Amino acid sequence: ETDYVQHHIQKIVAFFGAMRNFSEHLINQGHQVHYLALDDEQNCQSLTGNLHVLIEKYDIAQFEYLLPDEYRLDEQLKAFCASLDMPWKVCDTEHFMTARHDLAEFFKGKKTFVMESFYRHMRKQYDIMMVGNEPLTGQWNYDQDNRDSLDQQADLPERLHFQHDVSGLVKLLDASGIEVLGSINEKQFRWPLNRQESLMVLDHFLQVSLPAFGKYQDAMHTQHAYLNHSLLSFSLNSKMLSPLEVVTKAVNHWKEHQEVISMAQIEGFVRQIIGWREYMRGVYWAEMPMYKSLNFFEHQADLPQWFWTGKTKMNCVHHAITQSLDKAYAHHIQRLMITGNFALLAGIHPDAIDRWYLGIYIDAIEWVEITNTRGMSQYADGGIVGTKPYVSSANYIHKMSNYCGSCHYSSSKKVGEQACPFNSLYWHFYARHQDKLKKNPRIGMAYRTLDKMKNKEAILQQAEEYLANIEDL
Ligand code: FAD
Ligand code: SF4
Repeated sequence: ETDYVQHHIQKIVAFFGAMRNFSEHLINQGHQVHYLALDDEQNCQSLTGNLHVLIEKYDIAQFEYLLPDEYRLDEQLKAFCASLDMPWKVCDTEHFMTARHDLAEFFKGKKTFVMESFYRHMRKQYDIMMVGNEPLTGQWNYDQDNRDSLDQQADLPERLHFQHDVSGLVKLLDASGIEVLGSINEKQFRWPLNRQESLMVLDHFLQVSLPAFGKYQDAMHTQHAYLNHSLLSFSLNSKMLSPLEVVTKAVNHWKEHQEVISMAQIEGFVRQIIGWREYMRGVYWAEMPMYKSLNFFEHQADLPQWFWTGKTKMNCVHHAITQSLDKAYAHHIQRLMITGNFALLAGIHPDAIDRWYLGIYIDAIEWVEITNTRGMSQYADGGIVGTKPYVSSANYIHKMSNYCGSCHYSSSKKVGEQACPFNSLYWHFYARHQDKLKKNPRIGMAYRTLDKMKNKEAILQQAEEYLANIEDL
């Protein structure tokens, strides 16, 4: 599990720490637990190997397991059960609001999976902010209210940081020869490592950040990594919190504090959890294993080396990557519109991009990583998740962040010395994929602009030069 990609040290430490705390919690509750530590002499370092040993040791009569979240592990456990000469049983997880194949059933017979209709279905099913079959305020979605950049006056709250000493775990990983990336403050590790701490993060978020959660959801800033984001993805994905309890608490909190929390803020948050999160999981189980090999644009380029160091002159990319290496965290728009945007414009192979995203983030587990990366960010699925590729020139980045002001490149230049690479690569992307994109009704405008451009050839030439020297950007 530590080696299927190279992971961020904080991700491995967080998962190991949370597992150990969970095991201790179960023992304190009076359960019998056999926890095999990484360096335990009896650990044969393979899941099935360990299972065989334990089955024999405890004279097990029936093998039972919890449905895992990853296709790879699911297949491995199915094959293991098929090899057993004893009865076995599998139990579903309670940590999602939908079963694995609910989404596929919901969209049966449809060519595209529209998130918004799935989200409305979930609101109705769980009766969240509804009056009968209609949304409480008559409006389902407040996304258009949630796109402010960070203004000077924005008062951003201090976030809850834990101060765990995880030096023992770091030493163990080191001694085990596990290759990791990123950095860690091993005396003051910030992420929650048990359910109690995860609940504290949730409560703190509701009190200090929910009132302006949506407002700055898309904003990016050199001094503020977390803005008003919830920082709950690790607690949710490691199952220390359940999505239903998170949403129920958030809605109850909003009901009691409507004078400071607008509908736009709570709706924006609820949509992320019962909409996007459940939707991505449903897409994963509907489309795997085929999804893992999709490459709609047939992109083949290698990931530039500076993705592993952050050493690029593009200030936005530099910030998004160094922050990710430091914190194992970047918020959604940094992942989508900075690193993801660049990778798509530059034609990087989706396998390489998946490996990077799966390794670097504290919350990265394949079911939610691959659907976001290959689907939403890279459009490698040809439109299962998104209706058009998420690409932008410097315009968007300049509007939503303070990155451009201190950049080596000029956000207003398309060609010439220090022209922002995003500008020419943006048009190069559209030009090279005309045959695949021109008919998309949501993109027609871009092609009409491209056709009318006077300096089109110079822009495309500029992009070619940048692509040929990508390591120097
Ligand atoms: P908030 O902004 O506070 O959102 C609240 C919660 O909503 C999150 O904790 C998360 O559980 C859920 N959520 C929001 N957006 C999404 C989404 N698009 N898909 C699924 N759940 C969502 N999320 C992961 O959990 N793991 C990943 O590996 C992952 N990889 C991503 C890769 C790319 C290229 C992109 C564009 C997005 C990715 N996301 C991933 C989605 C999203 O960026 C993170 O969930 C979010 O940044 C986590 O921070 P937060 O808890 O502060 O989120
Ligand atoms: Fe990024 Fe271009 Fe702005 Fe620099 S000028 S920060 S490369 S968008």
